[in-house]
Amino acid sequence: MNMLVVQKYGGTSVGSAERIKAVAQRIAQTASDRSVVVVVSAMGKTTDGLVKLANEISPNPCRREMDMLLSTGEQVTIALMSMALQELGVPAISLTGAQVGIVTEAEHSRARILHIQTERIEEHLQLGEVVVVAGFQGISQSRHQEITTLGRGGSDTSAVALAAALQAERCEIYTDVPGILTTDPRIVPEAQLMPEITCDEMLELASLGAKVLHPRAVEIARNYGMPLVVLSSWSDEPGTRVVSAIPKRRALQDLELTKPVDAVEYDTNQAAISMLHLPDSPGVAAKLFSGIAVQNIDVDLIIQSIHESKTNDIAFTVGKDTLKQAAAVADAILPTLGKNSDPSLGEPEVKTEERPIAKVSLVGAGMIGRPRVAAKMFETLAVAGVNIVMISTSEVKVSCVVDAEDCEKAVNSLCQAFEVDVADISSSDTSRSVTTDSEEVPPPVRAVALDIKQARLAVRHIPDRPGMAAQIFGLLAQQNISVDMIIQSQRCHSMDGVLTRDIAFTVSQPEGETAYQTLVNAAVEFGWGEVVLENGIAKVSVVGSGMIAHPGVAAQMFEALATSQVNILMIATSEIKISCVVEEKDGVKALQAIHKAFGLSGNDVIKVPA
Ligand code: ASP
Ligand code: MG
Repeated sequence: MNMLVVQKYGGTSVGSAERIKAVAQRIAQTASDRSVVVVVSAMGKTTDGLVKLANEISPNPCRREMDMLLSTGEQVTIALMSMALQELGVPAISLTGAQVGIVTEAEHSRARILHIQTERIEEHLQLGEVVVVAGFQGISQSRHQEITTLGRGGSDTSAVALAAALQAERCEIYTDVPGILTTDPRIVPEAQLMPEITCDEMLELASLGAKVLHPRAVEIARNYGMPLVVLSSWSDEPGTRVVSAIPKRRALQDLELTKPVDAVEYDTNQAAISMLHLPDSPGVAAKLFSGIAVQNIDVDLIIQSIHESKTNDIAFTVGKDTLKQAAAVADAILPTLGKNSDPSLGEPEVKTEERPIAKVSLVGAGMIGRPRVAAKMFETLAVAGVNIVMISTSEVKVSCVVDAEDCEKAVNSLCQAFEVDVADISSSDTSRSVTTDSEEVPPPVRAVALDIKQARLAVRHIPDRPGMAAQIFGLLAQQNISVDMIIQSQRCHSMDGVLTRDIAFTVSQPEGETAYQTLVNAAVEFGWGEVVLENGIAKVSVVGSGMIAHPGVAAQMFEALATSQVNILMIATSEIKISCVVEEKDGVKALQAIHKAFGLSGNDVIKVPA
């Protein structure tokens, strides 16, 4: 048989009869020397229209009937697309998800794909037909064979899953933009097309990327090493390649990873430094981390916690062998930072953690949209009696700093709880950098993103003992609140002889109030201090796998913010991502400044539809 490609066309690309005919031309071209499976979305805004219609009848329709309704959108497109192909003399046949045998869990409106029965598609391909498949839908395994949908935006996922199951040469996602851009061009007109991005970077950019590519599609591409490309339906430009490391061979059963976590990682080669009572003004983080970058010291975790009465704490970790050098830089910088306006707030000071520490992380793309994962991690550590010293989270990673002597216990209990293997990443930095199917050396920063409409919560004076983080995030998970960035800094306060810590995190603005109420009610019961809610914050992030073992990236980001007079409220990092919380009014300015600072701006004007 010919080489096989899977092509997916999004709603706008098939938004009218004219467009369907134009797309059919493109498919016909490919089909002249390839086997083609086409996956389509519903026409234009059809799905939104159907949702609206349902809501005119019921404010809260049952999910089964919603799936029955929404799956009709794609069915219209497959029939019309087949007709258009046949009209061009290309043999074609349309198939629904059920006819193909896209077997999913029975979870209506967010079903995950279990496996795909490829026999029928293969038969048609053998006959030289183009197979046009309805995206976004499947059929449950149960006796009743219910129609299911994969969640909004899910036809990307259908396409990549089909490509994996059919072992296609590649999967092409056609859309109305020329590919994936370095940031949102509606905010930064200088945004440029990226020729390439790794799946891991794409997942960390969920908020920027989700509109272009469903995160679950990226997850499948990564797990099966499926070459993926995002490109425009209306040009012949090459678009953006979404590349992944060559993966281990994986069975085609349970195609969509049912486990939320891929692995537990630990690093015992870390040492922590904290700077306490720093003045809360733009430029402090910039000064500190530029000093460190000048010494060429590679910083791993950076955590800046909430303000306490107008002062900040910044904690960071470095390799053990550079601890002394980094501490010396911190000491030298201290006197240049200025004093706190109010002497009762305490003087700025540097503290190096005397006890050895270890970083233990949970890694996995399946954490996106599963609020329970972080809570379960903290719970597991609590049950094992492990106290958490610091926490920092990103989209696909939760990292906890613990005492080195607790490391083994922590790792074992997490591996057991999440049924995954462990990876020791304490060794050299180079072994951690990703090798992909690409030739290029990844740039330190590939893209930047802005999340607006976030709220920040802080719980103060939490007793410093195992189980407290587990309580907080367990309660929030029960309310189904997705927590975005979680930070626990290193400072301990002594309240009547009891050591306490603060934990801060962000949620989407509409969930802020519920989260606040939930925690206020619990605070009394568990003996926590004040709960603080601040609406009106934004998060800016830089992402790039090249920042691993590339000192100075954080410094450059903080300097760009300082130059624009943007105050940083919180910082959290993972290996390939640095996020800063800033005030909402500073969000756009911050995004523009960092986009420019990393040389991502260009002169090509990229048109995107409103
Ligand atoms: N039609 C579905 C939606 O609008 C699926 C898709 O287009 O990916 O969410
Ligand atoms: Mg889409």
